[in-house]
Amino acid sequence: MSIYTRILLALDLSEESDQLATKTAQMANALGAELNLIHVVEPLSFAYGGDVPMDLTTIQEQLDDHARAKLDEYAENIGYPVNKKIIVTGHTETEIHRAAEDLNTDLVIVGSHGRHGLALLLGSTANGVLHGAKCDVLAIRVKEEG
Ligand code: AMP
Repeated sequence: MSIYTRILLALDLSEESDQLATKTAQMANALGAELNLIHVVEPLSFAYGGDVPMDLTTIQEQLDDHARAKLDEYAENIGYPVNKKIIVTGHTETEIHRAAEDLNTDLVIVGSHGRHGLALLLGSTANGVLHGAKCDVLAIRVKEEG
């Protein structure tokens, strides 16, 4: 049996996700592993707290719909069968950990910018996912598009 059988790829749906998708599909193919995709939509209330005197529900729904459409696009173009596409609302690292456990994932794949200096001190999603994950985490270095 292959060392990894169930991969969870976390996509932030930025342009850099293409690099992650390409490498992950090749790995999943080489391993014959199940591939699942996740994107976490952070609630607008996280960014704005209770400070906005309006109902954010419609905007939040539009964000969710947009994310769902983009994740569908990635799944179609990744060149490897995708088992599950997960869109959840919440805190990114927490939801990735939760989904990884729910799906019995043995490898989570995230992108890493290899930041340094202040940005490193402030942390990154890749770091956050690594700390607290119950399975292996692979950080794929993404090159900034420019
Ligand atoms: P960051 O540290 O925010 O630049 O993100 C690095 C990596 O974390 C991305 O390449 C994704 O793999 C993952 N990531 C960041 N934000 C999200 C998100 N909202 N949903 C899923 N994965 C994410």
